[in-house]
Amino acid sequence: MRKDGLFIGVEVDDAVAGDAELARKLDDACPVDIYAASESGVDIVEKNLDECVLCGLCLQASPPGTVKVLKLYDDEAVLAA
Ligand code: SF4
Repeated sequence: MRKDGLFIGVEVDDAVAGDAELARKLDDACPVDIYAASESGVDIVEKNLDECVLCGLCLQASPPGTVKVLKLYDDEAVLAA
């Protein structure tokens, strides 16, 4: 699953998107509420995407490579974990 704002895009690997535990961790980790835990797993909250502060907490909270933060303003450069 991927959603894009104007400046920031977020991609969550479909293999983990339905994981309720991961959804809760991401919901807790992101300071600007880009992730929401729903019954079906991880939701990406589109209206908050451009509030991303590039803190990397979502990357630390998820298995390596399963969550990507893309800098759309920088040729889709991937935020390093
Ligand atoms: S880098 Fe930080 S602000 Fe951006 S989506 Fe991840 S947790 Fe949220």
